[in-house]
Amino acid sequence: MIYQIVETTCLIRIKCIFLCSNIRNTVGMFFLIYVVLLCIVETMKNSSQSVEIIIGLLTNKQYCPSVSGNHLTIKTLYTLAVRNKVAFLLRHFLTCPLCHKTIHPNWKTKIAQTLKLSTFRNLYLRQELIDVEKIFKQHRLRGVLFKWQNQNSISGSDIDILVSQKDFARTITAFHAKGYRVETAGREHKEAHLIHPRGTHIDLHFLFAYPHFRGLTDYDKDLLKQISHKCLEANRSSGFGLSYPTIEWFMIMKIAGYWFNDLLTGLGPLHTIAAICSQPQNTVDWKKLLTLADSVAIRQEILFVLTLCSRVFSTPLPLDVKAVLPLHVQFLAHRQKLADIVVFPPIQSWYHSRYLHESKARFLRFLLLKLVLHQHLPLSLLIEKFQLKKIRLWLPVLLKDSIQKITQRR
Ligand SMILES: [Zn+2]
Repeated sequence: MIYQIVETTCLIRIKCIFLCSNIRNTVGMFFLIYVVLLCIVETMKNSSQSVEIIIGLLTNKQYCPSVSGNHLTIKTLYTLAVRNKVAFLLRHFLTCPLCHKTIHPNWKTKIAQTLKLSTFRNLYLRQELIDVEKIFKQHRLRGVLFKWQNQNSISGSDIDILVSQKDFARTITAFHAKGYRVETAGREHKEAHLIHPRGTHIDLHFLFAYPHFRGLTDYDKDLLKQISHKCLEANRSSGFGLSYPTIEWFMIMKIAGYWFNDLLTGLGPLHTIAAICSQPQNTVDWKKLLTLADSVAIRQEILFVLTLCSRVFSTPLPLDVKAVLPLHVQFLAHRQKLADIVVFPPIQSWYHSRYLHESKARFLRFLLLKLVLHQHLPLSLLIEKFQLKKIRLWLPVLLKDSIQKITQRR
C-alpha cells in the first residue's frame, strides 16, 4: 500500500518534471535520479507484519504486538522464529497477559513444548560436553568450540567442534572407540557427525563453515581453510582438550559463517553478533578484530555484517568500527532487504524446483555483493579510485540546488 502511494506520487512528480523542463535539462535529470532512488529505497522497506513483530520482540523488551497494533498470525510467526533460530522470543506469547488471550490454546501448548525441549537439550548437551572434553584430553587432542565462553546456552541441536585436518581421522577413531556411531556420508568434505548411543549429536569440523550445497567458489573455500587454520593456531597454547575461541576469533567465525554457511540469511546469528556489540565497551578489542579480519582479507565482509546488525536491531556501531566504515559498505548494508534475511526457504531445499527461481536470484545477489565488497577484487578498487566519499559530500548540495532551481522556475 505504502509503496503504491509512493510509486504514484513519484509518477506524478516525474510527469511534472517532464512538463516543466526539458528532459535534457540537467536539473530535471538529477531530480529524476533522486526520485528513482527514492522508489528503490521504498521498495527495499519491508512491510511484513510478522517480520516487524519478530524484530520488535528482539530489540525491545517492552514491545508487545497487541499494543503496537501489528496483526498477529501465530503460525507464520512460529515458523519464522524457529527457522531464524530465535524461538526463545515466543516466550512472550506465554507470559504477556494481552497476547496470551489472542492465541489458540493449541499454539500455547506447542510453544511451551518447543521452549521446554530447547531447555532440556541445552542441559543435556552441557553434560555431554564434560564427556567429550574427557575424550579429547585422554587422546591428547585439541578442539575449539563454536561458542563464546560467556554464552549461556548451547544453541542448536548438537555440539560443533573445530579440529585440525591433521587430527581429524584420529579424533573420529577416538570417539568411535567410546561407542559413538560415525556418519560421514555426504559430509567427507568438511565434517563427521558423531552420534552417542544415548542420542546426543556432535559435529566435528575441520572447516568451521561450509554450506550444505554447492555455491562457494574455490576462493571462498580457501578462505574458510585459512580462517579455520588460524583460529586453531590461536588456541594452540591452551593445551589438550576443548577450548573456547577468543571473542575476536569468535566474531570472525560467526560473521564469516553468516556469509559462507548461512548465505546472509537468518536473524539468530545476527542477534548473537548484535548482543556482543552491545556488551560493555572493553569486551571486544575491535582494533584487534579488524587486524585479524585483515589477516584473512575479510575486513569489508565483517564491516558489512556489523552494519547490518546495527541497522536491523537499531544498536550503535562500535566507535572503532564506525571510524573505518567505507561508504559503499554502509550503503550496501542498508540496501539489504530485511525480508531476504528473515523470510527464506530452508537452505537445504534451495535447489528444489519450487524455490529454484528465487534461489538463483539470491545467489546472483550474493555473488555481486561479494564482488563489490571484497577488498582484493577489482570492483572495490574501482570504487576507491572514484573516491565515493567526495561524491557523498557533493551530492546533497547538488540535489538541494537542483530542487531550488526547479521550484524557482515553476
Ligand atoms: Zn504482548
